[in-house]
Amino acid sequence: MRVVELSGGVGGARLARGLAALDDVELTVVVNVGDDAENHGFHISPDVDTVIYTLAGVEGPQGWGRAWDTFNFNTELARFGVDNTFRLGDLDLALKVFRTVEMAKGTPLSKVTSAAADGFGVSAAVLPATDDRLRTEVRLDDGWIGFQEYFVARGHRDVVHEVRFIGADRAVPAPGVVEAIATADLVVIGPSNPPLSVWPILAVPGLRPAVDEHPAVVAVSPLIGGKTVKGPADRVMSSLGLGTGNHAVVDSYRGLIDRLVIDNTDSADAASLRDVEVVVTDTLITDPKQATRLARELVEG
Ligand code: GDP
Ligand code: CA
Repeated sequence: MRVVELSGGVGGARLARGLAALDDVELTVVVNVGDDAENHGFHISPDVDTVIYTLAGVEGPQGWGRAWDTFNFNTELARFGVDNTFRLGDLDLALKVFRTVEMAKGTPLSKVTSAAADGFGVSAAVLPATDDRLRTEVRLDDGWIGFQEYFVARGHRDVVHEVRFIGADRAVPAPGVVEAIATADLVVIGPSNPPLSVWPILAVPGLRPAVDEHPAVVAVSPLIGGKTVKGPADRVMSSLGLGTGNHAVVDSYRGLIDRLVIDNTDSADAASLRDVEVVVTDTLITDPKQATRLARELVEG
């Protein structure tokens, strides 16, 4: 069975690990690149790296970054007065250097990503949504700023009034992305932040229609007990006018999804969610075994 998952970082990566554990599933993960940035001279693709590390089982304790990492490089930067609030681990640095050097030679992000996945023995196909430059920006009380500035430097505390995806209109889907969606038996939207992780994927011309035309699209809600497990998705959906709870998730994917999987703790939402089939189950998947169980439920639909 062919499965395509649209994924941001931590939440999407956890589900990807569950899907990859199923013997009868051939998995392609299409990953957000709206969070990409240049830091300390390196090209950073945080969500792509989180997906690779998690599929390899070497993700950091919070779900991002690299397991067993140290931060000597990052600490040393402070000597020169360099702003090191964006923390880059020593092990994590290797992938960043590899990507930056390859991209400087003209190698597209998708090629670097598949080489990086190979380096970690990851057998699922990991594809960035696009090889082109696409950057998420958010409008706060004091105007538009880049995603990393909002998320990392300002700790995603500000109220987000609007989102935009700079470069999306000129972006082209990375090789294989549209084909993977078109030939998939199932398209899964991972439990990622809908406006900040999934919309930038759908903003790449051709991708929203590809998902829209697919007959079997299921989303897993990132909410548990009406709140996010981590990050600002609940607050961002609310300040964007999408409402609260799983109604906001359905509204974020209006017209795209056939099924929404929500957590047992939110079963009260089920009766009032319109236009989608609702499945209620245990969606906390921090433990890989739980991720595999949820993945099994998704593919057996
Ligand atoms: P980011 O790029 O690291 O912010 O990652 P994503 O956008 O992929 O994931 C963030 C979302 O993942 C948050 O809204 C979390 O609520 C959700 N999330 C993280 N772990 C879990 C989990 O175990 N179950 C569910 N349902 N959602 C999760
Ligand atoms: Ca992210």
